[in-house]
Amino acid sequence: MQIQKDAVVTFFYTLSELEGKQLEDNKDSVPMAYLHGHRNLLPALESALEGLQEGESKTIVLPPEQAYGKLDPSAQQRVPIKHLASKPKRLMPGVIVRIQTDNGVKTGTVIKAGKFVVDVDLNHPFAGKTLQFEVTVDSVREASTEEIAHGHAHGVGGHHH
Ligand code: ZN
Repeated sequence: MQIQKDAVVTFFYTLSELEGKQLEDNKDSVPMAYLHGHRNLLPALESALEGLQEGESKTIVLPPEQAYGKLDPSAQQRVPIKHLASKPKRLMPGVIVRIQTDNGVKTGTVIKAGKFVVDVDLNHPFAGKTLQFEVTVDSVREASTEEIAHGHAHGVGGHHH
């Protein structure tokens, strides 16, 4: 079966920055499962996977506009440490923190930490990056009516209730 709307797909992937370092992969764990055509992945990634069959591999390159957006320089903020929703043991550059804002809790990356305030970058960690996915399709099957009603895949690598 080909990847098409309402198919449940499982796949292995390696995600890297284009001509750069590897960011993540799931090669040594269970394949990721998703329901195709229900906006569970980046839309550009979903459309690149459409039509592939079990066992096929594909390299997919997504510029920032099709992935996590451009870097927004105004997304850097100075936050009082007491406004952090979670406080890691050591506040150092690169550490991920959760910040209580008027618009709910946001995730940011520490740029610089002081005694009472911390400078954080609220951009998505992959913002501004051209991403390269190397995908191998593990399986393709028809979704159950329950999965279509829920809008996601069930079972190994998918949602558990
Ligand atoms: Zn469900």
